[in-house]
Amino acid sequence: MVTAEEGAAGVDGPPWRARSGLRAAIDAVLSVLWAPACAACDNPLDQPSRGPVCAACWRSILPLTAPLCDRCGDPLAAWRSISIPLARCPRCRRRRRFVDRARAVGAYDGALRAIVHALKYEGRRSLARTLGAMMRRRGAEVLGGSSCLVPVPLHASRRRARGFNQAADLARAIDLPVVAALKRVRATRTQTGLPAARRHRNVRGAFAVTRAGHALAGATVVLIDDVSTTGATLEACAKVLKEAGVAEVRALTAARVVGR
Ligand SMILES: [Zn+2]
Ligand SMILES: [Zn+2]
Repeated sequence: MVTAEEGAAGVDGPPWRARSGLRAAIDAVLSVLWAPACAACDNPLDQPSRGPVCAACWRSILPLTAPLCDRCGDPLAAWRSISIPLARCPRCRRRRRFVDRARAVGAYDGALRAIVHALKYEGRRSLARTLGAMMRRRGAEVLGGSSCLVPVPLHASRRRARGFNQAADLARAIDLPVVAALKRVRATRTQTGLPAARRHRNVRGAFAVTRAGHALAGATVVLIDDVSTTGATLEACAKVLKEAGVAEVRALTAARVVGR
């Protein structure tokens, strides 16, 4: 699916316009004096004033291509979209899901993976603005008609260690009210490296709805996170939100692990 905005720009590139003369001069000085490298590809940045990732890396982040599972957003084998009216992947047909619809900017791979890492583990928080702008454009179908964004929270101890919650930074870059509707009531070990079944167990009972979250009964909300791997974290969040009366829970992530 290509939006009019993306179509006009050819590929969905970084949301900045042609360089002004002054900015070009600043960039020329910065690249010589400071010689920073792109946080994703490591090549020298020729426009360092535009942030820590080069334009070529941003442009290389391709949208997941249709047909997609109507629920989780996984790419489907092409025949499915023709043979069943509501296209669902085998996993979504097998089990009940609390997330009604999930979409991502692209696959957790290449430049997008490097950008998420730089944001999360190297504290390059300015990347959340550009990434959030891409989420706004490519996630238009899940954002439409929703009343607010709910960032997936970190446990207080991890939040303190990292200094920020990348999901909240991403949510703030999307143009909708952000509600801290969830909290982590249990510190969980990182999901990285855990097999799918363990991931669901690992986050079970980890989330609770805050007072602000209870005010969302009847609403349609969009969970925001950096990466969705098996969807276990998003499911755990959606479950408690629905138990608190939220009518519809959608999810929008910067990246999605596909082809598991
Ligand atoms: Zn690059
Ligand atoms: Zn699915």
